[in-house]
Amino acid sequence: MSPRVAAAQISHETNRFSVVLTDYAAFEASGLSVGEAIRPSLWGSNSEFGGFLAGAERHGLDLRPIVAVWATPSGLVTAEAIGRLTDLLVGGLERALADGPLDGVLLALHGAMVTETDHDGDAGLLEAVRRAVGPAVPIVATLDLHANVSKRMVAAADLLVGFDTYPHVDMAERGEEACAHLARLIRGEVRPTAALRKPPMLPTSQRMLTDRMPMRRLVERAHAMEEDPRVVNVTVSGGFPPADVPEAGFSVLVTTDDDPALAAELAEALAREAWDLRHGFLGGVTGWAEAVALIRDLGRGELPGSGPLVLVDIADNPWTGGPGDSAELVRFLLANKVAGAAVALVKDPETVAQARAVDPGATIEVRLGGKTDALHGEPLPVRAYVRLVSDGRYVNEGPMLAGVGVDLGPSAVLHCTSPEGGTPPVETLVTSRAETPIDLNVFRSHGIEPTRRTVLGLKGKGHFRASFEPISRRVALVEGPGITGADLSRLAFRHVRRPIWPLDPEAAYP
Ligand SMILES: [Zn+2]
Repeated sequence: MSPRVAAAQISHETNRFSVVLTDYAAFEASGLSVGEAIRPSLWGSNSEFGGFLAGAERHGLDLRPIVAVWATPSGLVTAEAIGRLTDLLVGGLERALADGPLDGVLLALHGAMVTETDHDGDAGLLEAVRRAVGPAVPIVATLDLHANVSKRMVAAADLLVGFDTYPHVDMAERGEEACAHLARLIRGEVRPTAALRKPPMLPTSQRMLTDRMPMRRLVERAHAMEEDPRVVNVTVSGGFPPADVPEAGFSVLVTTDDDPALAAELAEALAREAWDLRHGFLGGVTGWAEAVALIRDLGRGELPGSGPLVLVDIADNPWTGGPGDSAELVRFLLANKVAGAAVALVKDPETVAQARAVDPGATIEVRLGGKTDALHGEPLPVRAYVRLVSDGRYVNEGPMLAGVGVDLGPSAVLHCTSPEGGTPPVETLVTSRAETPIDLNVFRSHGIEPTRRTVLGLKGKGHFRASFEPISRRVALVEGPGITGADLSRLAFRHVRRPIWPLDPEAAYP
């Protein structure tokens, strides 16, 4: 008989500097599915659960989907939300157990969730699952590459498997890998033993891209270590600074087959190498003056290549917990009188409501964005031609999260000009929900062909590259006002362990 395995996803990346609490409704809005409904919605998708479903078939596991839910990164997860989600998870496990014994559990976690009641929310979930299934049932969990891996997580799980890519294009692959390990664990063929090393490093992610240095070397070394048959998995996690928890930061987790000395030796060596390469994680951001020069060169036909210049504001990145309502890129493009530019996106439900109150083709005066807090710039006064309104729904074409649906809520495409006139319009996607645009379909589903624009303004850090770098002439990261940028000195950290590099340049790794 096939082993019976329960599978669940509860994931959130928490930015403690966001004023937007993450309540249960936020999880529901990002898509909450329960039980067998998960199968058709995530089957074949490049997501962890897509990998669980495919891996279960390949490795002969009888999969019981329990719950699949995530929320866009934002502030602390409320006590009520984590309570209800934990009840869904544990209740589902208990119902599965009532039908007969479970042989294993698969979990998709982020690894940087902070709740009002537990600064290590992922460990809390793992411990709840452990209590529900008992000490003998193996638990294998996937983690994001930006996880703040902790000793509690390692202790509560049998095996943790982190993503190897940023942009994260291997979610399904890691989900399948988790299934392969779990099948071996259930057959008693492997006894995982893990060593966690955390050098005192708190890098930001704009230079964590795994196809270039320094992360490329670290992931290559991890894969070389995995060639050894005694090694089960090597996970390199970049960490997520704005979670502002003691465990925040870089980590190396090596799991071997019952060989603690080897695990410790390999983890130590790789953590040391990461520490030695740490300065390679700094920089990579274009100053605003430099961005003006790029615009000028583009206008004169002196910027080599073809396709749009992609300008990315990293300081209001929804997938790092930014509110998504900074209008800084629109302000910049208007100030520099850029023709043919399109921006995705500015979250501003008030402006969307104004646009929906008139017919497409009408012109309205709006104050765009800057309404969530005082940290993401002032609202921008613009005159806006309403080109279309939409339900904000589309499906990613990939590569990242291919096949997964996106729901921006009621949205509008506005051609924004300065109220005084005299500026070419900036096509701006204004949405009701904050999301990071990672896929060309964010534009195409709104009638904007991204390859035909001179400048594309995005909010993001690295994920946009999977789709947008291949069509771009040049990518430039800029940093407007906000809580998600590369400049950590803007954030008032209270809980990260100190000293830690680069906040404390004198930090040492003895
Ligand atoms: Zn990530």
